[in-house]
Amino acid sequence: MLVVMEKGTSEEKIQAAVNAIEKRGYTARPIPGGDRVSIGILHNKGSVDATHFLGLDGVKEVIPVTKPYKLVSREFKQENTHIKVGDAVFGNGSFPVVAGPCAVESEEQVMSIAKSIKEAGAKLFRGGAFKPRTSPYSFQGLGKQGLKFLAKVREETGLPVVTEVMDVENFDLVEEYADVVQIGTRNMQNFSLLRRAGKSKRPVILKRGMSAMLQEWLMAAEYIMEEGNSNVILCERGVRTFVRHSRNTLDLSVVPAVKKESHLPIIVDPSHAAGVRDQVIPLAYASAALGADGVMIEVHNHPEDALSDGAQSLYPHQFFAAMEKMNAIHAIVGK
Ligand code: PEP
Ligand code: MN
Repeated sequence: MLVVMEKGTSEEKIQAAVNAIEKRGYTARPIPGGDRVSIGILHNKGSVDATHFLGLDGVKEVIPVTKPYKLVSREFKQENTHIKVGDAVFGNGSFPVVAGPCAVESEEQVMSIAKSIKEAGAKLFRGGAFKPRTSPYSFQGLGKQGLKFLAKVREETGLPVVTEVMDVENFDLVEEYADVVQIGTRNMQNFSLLRRAGKSKRPVILKRGMSAMLQEWLMAAEYIMEEGNSNVILCERGVRTFVRHSRNTLDLSVVPAVKKESHLPIIVDPSHAAGVRDQVIPLAYASAALGADGVMIEVHNHPEDALSDGAQSLYPHQFFAAMEKMNAIHAIVGK
């Protein structure tokens, strides 16, 4: 249920409506909109009787919400959510690019890649310090040392940094260094991690689980928002299908589907979808044409020596060329 207030309703009247909702045992969550505030009613078991709230001072209308997710839904909030990180804004029709290696490997490596991607016009740097690897024998990331290298990248280039948090145990540490925390595909339904992310002050990139339906993904975002963090950026990174010609199948159709259901920004990661660099570039162009709110692309200065995901990492010169084309495509059809 959504209680929509009249335009320009005073703070006191909004607070009085909140109190009236909470007195009935529900949670009231004011949601600022373009020119009016709405109040979402959460934690109701069964339907809510609209007549309780229709007569309150300042209430314009009461709208039933038919979707299982609430805070993430367009029914609750019609305007797109804008999330500002450094110079970038996700969700306002622009096309910010997040780029960097799969994993932080050394200070020289991250610094060299960060300088290249910045010059090419990327707005955020990415790199994992804690890596979720299929094999326990694969490189697991540099941990805290890797986070320190990321902090150096930010210091020297001014680029905000995105890095993955794998567990609740390391959340405090990761959020201390990260400008944006990433929750990976394998953790999309790690509910304790989602709740912890909901208590964070950092924006969260929530990757789609590799076999998650749209509804499950939005529900995962709902966990984060329900705890109070409304800065959630969804990231499509390909889903597992029967094909062998790519690592995953990039589900481009999920972008318009998300935009219809939710006000949250959605970016696309063509790198983990493709798994091979020659497919990453055309998929990045498709993402720019699609009206996605940005892309995340893996770039490495020496992909052949990369400690993870070398095959899908672009060479810096390829990234340069791709940036130019993506921006041109976005300017024509992506907006
Ligand atoms: C990554 O971004 O490095 C990563 C591990 O991605 P995903 O969770 O999509 O596999
Ligand atoms: Mn990777």
